[in-house]
Amino acid sequence: MNLALQYPVFGPEIICPHCRQLIPALTLTDTYLCNRHGAFEADPKIKELVHLPSSRRWRLWEEQWYRQHTHPDGIRFEIHEALDALYTEGYRATKVIIANRYRDLVSSYLGRSHPWRDSSEFKSPKLYGLPIGFSSEENAEPQWEIINFTLEKEPGVPRHYPYRFLFE
Ligand SMILES: [Zn+2]
Repeated sequence: MNLALQYPVFGPEIICPHCRQLIPALTLTDTYLCNRHGAFEADPKIKELVHLPSSRRWRLWEEQWYRQHTHPDGIRFEIHEALDALYTEGYRATKVIIANRYRDLVSSYLGRSHPWRDSSEFKSPKLYGLPIGFSSEENAEPQWEIINFTLEKEPGVPRHYPYRFLFE
């Protein structure tokens, strides 16, 4: 018997997306079990990991889990955290590029916060004060089916720059 077939699609063990501990697969199932977070089920067809207690989904790119969002608040919060981390590293974000598969989700959120559809704000929407773009639809690179966004950045934030006010 082929050993690989005894394990779920992500192999004999994975990093738990919640606590980043190494967690084992249960042989002959599609399930991984974290002592702290319970069962995760791997979907071999679409290569997704589903946390059974919460229904949260992740996809894997270069050994990193990327949460697959179904609500605009989820991706907004993740961008907020990434901006915070970037600032801590001494960078300043200049633009957010969001995966094209979230275009409808994010646009519905932006549409709500900018009800004046003819206004310039709606035509060039912003998130946390940053211009938004979407990944290319035509020649999409494969990671854009998995990752959620990237931040364009520049170095050299003056220490006194009141960056946090953008989040308030
Ligand atoms: Zn865990």
